[in-house]
This record gives sequence, C-alpha cells and structure tokens, in this order.
Amino acid sequence: MDISHLLRNELAELSSYVPHAGDFGVRLDANEAPNFWSNQAKTRFGQVTAETLLGRYPDAVAERLRQTLATRLGLSARQLLIGTGSDEVIALLLTALCKPRGKAHEAAVVTVTPTFVMYRMSARARGQTVVEVPLDPSWDLDAEAVGQAIERSDPNLVFIASPNNPTSNVMSQDRVEYIVAKAEKSGALVVLDEAYAAYCGANYRPWIASKPNVAVLGTLSKIGLAALRVGWLAGNEELVREIDKVRQPYNLPTLSQAIATTALTEFDHEMNAMVQQVCGERVRLSAELESLGYGVTKSDANFLWVKTAGLAERVFEQLKTKGVLVRSFHQRGGRLGSQLRITIGSIEENNTLLEAVKTL
Ligand SMILES: *Cc1c(COP(=O)(O)O)cnc(C)c1O
Repeated sequence: MDISHLLRNELAELSSYVPHAGDFGVRLDANEAPNFWSNQAKTRFGQVTAETLLGRYPDAVAERLRQTLATRLGLSARQLLIGTGSDEVIALLLTALCKPRGKAHEAAVVTVTPTFVMYRMSARARGQTVVEVPLDPSWDLDAEAVGQAIERSDPNLVFIASPNNPTSNVMSQDRVEYIVAKAEKSGALVVLDEAYAAYCGANYRPWIASKPNVAVLGTLSKIGLAALRVGWLAGNEELVREIDKVRQPYNLPTLSQAIATTALTEFDHEMNAMVQQVCGERVRLSAELESLGYGVTKSDANFLWVKTAGLAERVFEQLKTKGVLVRSFHQRGGRLGSQLRITIGSIEENNTLLEAVKTL
C-alpha cells in the first residue's frame, strides 16, 4: 500500500538517526565515557542482573532510582521524571506542552544552531515550528537574537544546552538569565540541558526553585552508563506531574533501573575518578592539538570542538583510515565546514588519536 497520503509532511525533511557504521579501533564520535568500570563493579552489575525478575514488568515509577538520583541532585523525588534517556524526556515535553498559542496552527520551539539535533528532530516529527538562532562567533548565545525570536514566535519551549553539543562550551550565564526572563514574559518554558554537567563546575538546578519557567535535563549517558538509557527531567512538581501523564508506564527497563542504582550508590567514586581523568586529558589534548595548528574551543564537556585548517572532511577521512572515528560537520557547510567534534577517550585512545593526527 502507498502510505504517502497518511504520512506527516514534515517526515519528508527528516531521516533516521544512524550512527556511523563500521569497526574502528578508537571510536571518539559519540561523547561516550571511556571504559573505566572495575572488575569489582562489573561483578556487582552481574549479580544485580542475575537477581532481576525478568518475567515481571519494571517498577513503573522507578522508585529506588528516582530517590537515589533526587538525593544526588539535591531535589525531591517529586521534582524528577526519569526517561529512556533524555531523548525520551525531550519527546515527552514536546508531546505534552504542544498547545498552539495565539493564532498559530502549531506549537513553536526556539533553540540555537548548532546544537543537539534531537530538539529539532523531535519537534518536527510532531509538526511543530522550529526557530533556530545562530550562536555568536564564539559559539555563545546571541541573547538579543534569541530574545527577539521568543517575542516573534511565542514558543511553547526554548531549548538550550550548556555545555552545548557540539561546541563544548558553557553558555554565558547572564545571557541564559536574559533569555529565561524573556521567555517568562512570553509564557514559555526554558529547558536547560545539562547532559555534560559532570564535566563543568556550574549547574542550573537551583533555578528550578527560583525561576518558575525553568526545567533542567540530565543523563547518565555521558558518565559511563550510555547503555542503560537513563535520563531525567528536573522541574517543579506541577510540571513533572503533567509530563508524567504522557510517559509510558514501564519506560525504564528493570535492568537499567537496577544497574544505575547500584552504580550511583556503590561505585560513584569510579565515575568521579573517570570524570577527573577526562578533565585532565581535556587540558592535554587541547594543548597538543593547538600545538599542531588546530583551533580548539575551550571545552567544558568531555569532547573537543576542533577547527581544521581546511575542510574537516579530509582530516576526518584520513583519521578513519587510521582506525580513529571522530565526528565531522563538513556536510553542514558554512562555518561548520571546518569543524570536528572529538570525544575525549581513555589515555591510550587519546594517544592513538594524537599519533594519527601527527602523521597527517
Ligand atoms: C548526549 C546528549 C544528551 C543525551 O541524551 P540521552 O538520550 O540521555 O543519551 C542530551 N543532550 C545533549 C545536549 C547531549 O549531547
């Protein structure tokens, strides 16, 4: 059957998210943490797995994990909603907060570019209007332009990642504050995505209490547990209660709940040590790449935003032939045409990367 008359028009502009296929000795393309769990930790995860009742549905409200995360984040469990990664939380926000405003036929979303693609993809998949405001020349927020976009488009949601992916930098706090104030005047919720919070000092969680139109996203994906798909929304209780209505009851598998809880309660120190090491490697790798003639944006995350002399594609392809996979933005063209995003790996992986870069 031809289904084209059934399809949402916006799907024509979307394509499935497909990670770069192939076997690479060193994969530095997805901002994952390097391997670091000790054998002791892995043994415990195995025990916890063996004790899981596979015939039963998961705990629908992820009680233990939610409480554990709440304590860790300094929030109450009622201020937290856990999703199958923050990707799901983004989708839930767009699903619930989608009532068109004023004379508009569709809800609108304001975000920046370049940034995390899921804000746009998830919004377009729901037929929503997406307004993307370019970051300024130093990859920081153009607060005035974002403010104007908010005034013009009356968005339901404003998405800002800080540290931002792919540019690795935190957004200036006074600019975020300006945008939050503009959004409050317009009646929009600002979603601050802190996927990389562990790798920088600041966090916006205190704003949940002080600014009624702010919610914060977090995830375990960038600190060693990407396989579990655990992400969350931290927000005021009323918001969490409403968004929870569109969450599937058993969204988070039992194994994810159990292993995440064990990791956070018993092996927190291993995660912290890994984060420390990655932050150390961030300094070393940035300096080495700069000495080799690359431009490196000051990173507040576990990856580097690297400017190549010519098109990024050449460096990307040459690294690939040496078994090192990074992310290239050359297809996006413009000022992104000479940008690579390189995840900070283990010390050995970073050495392999540097050796490969030196031979180019
Ligand atoms: C990686 C990333 C996420 C994580 O998404 P999960 O679904 O939790 O794995 C969220 N936001 C940003 C900005 C990211 O870079």
